[in-house]
Amino acid sequence: MLTLDSVKGWYGRTQALFGVDLHVAPGKTVALVGTNGAGKTTTLRAILGAVRTEGSVRVDGEEISAKPTHRRVNDHRIAIVHEGRGLLSQLTVLENLVVGANRAERARIGEVLELFPVLRDRTHQKVSLLSGGQQQMVALGRALLRDPKYLLLDEPGLGLAPVVIDEIYTYIAELCSRGMGVLLVEQSVTRAASVADELVLLRVGAVDRVVDTRDRERVDQLVADAFGVHH
Ligand code: ATP
Repeated sequence: MLTLDSVKGWYGRTQALFGVDLHVAPGKTVALVGTNGAGKTTTLRAILGAVRTEGSVRVDGEEISAKPTHRRVNDHRIAIVHEGRGLLSQLTVLENLVVGANRAERARIGEVLELFPVLRDRTHQKVSLLSGGQQQMVALGRALLRDPKYLLLDEPGLGLAPVVIDEIYTYIAELCSRGMGVLLVEQSVTRAASVADELVLLRVGAVDRVVDTRDRERVDQLVADAFGVHH
């Protein structure tokens, strides 16, 4: 279980998180939703230790909030796919997967390419020549090389056509069914409701409510409320 207890976060002197509580179980997908500036990305950064925080971040019972980012990702199998994907666009698909990978990670490249057959046929193509959806798969593939137990995704569908977003989320569901815990930021509450087990609505850096997506009534209420603030 990935657990946040009363996590506060700051950019310099500006406080962005005011006490976030959150749980992501292995095999579950939790979506962070909320308006621009609600603190969704900052919550992911707090888990990685990329902003100054107070409060508790635990992975499978172990407190990690005092650890530097590299220890969190290496020792606790947390991986992130940033918004904008962070790829080296002039390099090929394979080069992007290989860059920075250690031996164990390189050994998983075949497995990752098996998951994304469309990339397997394009390993020597420059990333800049791929479609947005294919680029997102490369970014996901890079994260998967780390064999994460918990995967953090910041708006994986950003800038992609709806049908491509569906495809990306199908892959994410597959990973989840293999036991990975997924925490994702998703702008569209409706889409989040269709892919996640649980929605966490953030408002001004704190959790407004947590909704189980099987509870259609509360999901509809959340969609209505979120549209209200989205204007
Ligand atoms: P969006 O959908 O716009 O990305 P978000 O919910 O992810 O929104 P955050 O990016 O987490 O929101 O931002 C939370 C708050 O922190 C906002 O008030 C924002 O202005 C502030 N903030 C975010 N990044 C920084 C930064 N690098 N420096 C200073 N303040 C920041």
